[in-house]
Amino acid sequence: MVKNLAPYAGRFGEYNVYVRSSGYPKVALVYPSTYQASISNLFTHIAYFYLLEKSDALVDRFTLDNPDRGSVTERKLREFDLILASANYELDLPYLAKLLSDAGVEVFAERRKMRPLIIVGGLAAMSNPEPFLDIADASFIGDGEVLLQRLVRYFSTLPENPGAFLDSLDSGVYTGEANVRKVVVEDLSNSFHPTVEIRSKKVEPVFGEGFYVEISRGCRWLCKFCLEAYAMYPYRYRSLETVKKLVDEGLRHVEKKRVVVYSSSPFDHPGIRDLLEYFIENEVDFSLPSIRWDTVKLDDLDIISKSTQKTLTLAPETMSSNLGCSIGKCFNFDVFSELVSKAFRERFNVKLYIMTGFPQESEEDFQETLRNLRKILALSHELGRKLTVNVNPLVPKPHTPLQDSPLLAEKEYSRRVKLLEAELGRSTVTHLRWLHAFAQSLVALGDRRIGRFFTLLAFRNISKRDMVDLANTLKVDISFPLKHRSRDERPWSRVVFPLDHIVDRIPSLGRS
Ligand code: SF4
Repeated sequence: MVKNLAPYAGRFGEYNVYVRSSGYPKVALVYPSTYQASISNLFTHIAYFYLLEKSDALVDRFTLDNPDRGSVTERKLREFDLILASANYELDLPYLAKLLSDAGVEVFAERRKMRPLIIVGGLAAMSNPEPFLDIADASFIGDGEVLLQRLVRYFSTLPENPGAFLDSLDSGVYTGEANVRKVVVEDLSNSFHPTVEIRSKKVEPVFGEGFYVEISRGCRWLCKFCLEAYAMYPYRYRSLETVKKLVDEGLRHVEKKRVVVYSSSPFDHPGIRDLLEYFIENEVDFSLPSIRWDTVKLDDLDIISKSTQKTLTLAPETMSSNLGCSIGKCFNFDVFSELVSKAFRERFNVKLYIMTGFPQESEEDFQETLRNLRKILALSHELGRKLTVNVNPLVPKPHTPLQDSPLLAEKEYSRRVKLLEAELGRSTVTHLRWLHAFAQSLVALGDRRIGRFFTLLAFRNISKRDMVDLANTLKVDISFPLKHRSRDERPWSRVVFPLDHIVDRIPSLGRS
């Protein structure tokens, strides 16, 4: 609980929120997405409460739903000294440009002269900060808690010289001038996790009401396409004791006795089964938004079925036994169908994530996935439950073993989506539009010129026509995601992640 500050509701009818009407510096937490997405992201709460508790800063939050005025103080964004922007997704880049422009803040870093100073973090920005530096003065390469600790220590040096302030923040700060190694929180159990989280009377967070707790960070499976695993390495978890304490305290400040468990693969946590039993014994409802399917035992479904969770989300990515192991997700249809069949019997609906366009993927791999999905669909009909299949093309991500692979061509992706829709029905299949995957690839793999391209695209539409027009005007090549690229074509090469040297020793993963 934040001491000596008054609770405040503001425009979103928030509770667990405090107002400090004056303070130095003025820090804006900018989340270039919806207000709902912002309160579903744990770092929003970590940064807000950490800065309020450990410094005299005046802190407020801005999203695409309130670009002009802070959600608590109603101050204008341009009055702030420091902007901490989150960019977990590639397309946060144009949305950030739009938000700043709507708020009357100079968008281009070179023209802004570091006022307000903008530091961007998050998965997309730290894995390839170059495109983001068209807007931001620096990108923080690492866990945000480390940045917060340093900010609080050096806030007093901000007024005179933002450049010196950036230098004082030390390792992990990338400005495009020197190599930077990622910095990490080593002991997650002892790192800051708020027990009070911002909640709104008007807007529920994405996974519903309740206390959101992060039990682990990173993922030990290191699937070859997965940015989360390589960017968040090493895998760390909070001790069961710590998680229970956080939950006991956190539930006192939410309206529903419910816990949402944040983890890339919760069943890898050594205390997860004890934790779920603890919830049941104490009549706490819970939700596990993402699960790696082969870590779940059949008995675990009995435990999960005691919660109000209705849908089990699993991401096998492929249902080809041949392809599965080569991307880090070995697939065995018999074991998988036994699990899904039990899930249907336990009255869960099932949502599956399928990815296509792996360099090693053959037509036969794709057809095998299709056949297996048909069998799972038949099972869902037989047991009266709903199956949803969400399809995405592989978007090659920096620092992963598939970083140099091409994005699947539009025509081929459309063919595969149409086949899936024809075989499974359009009501079962949803898919990411190819153009969005293409735009994501451009930011994920692009350089500073691509940053400028997206900053300007923010004021047009993400449509094929606008992209081609703008690329011609700026004379920027936007075809590179469709080709296999060499090591020399990695604009993120000065950002060093812990596994880069190992990833570089993995031979090329293409078929040819
Ligand atoms: S199991 Fe999921 S989170 Fe973990 S590495 Fe694989 S895809 Fe990433």
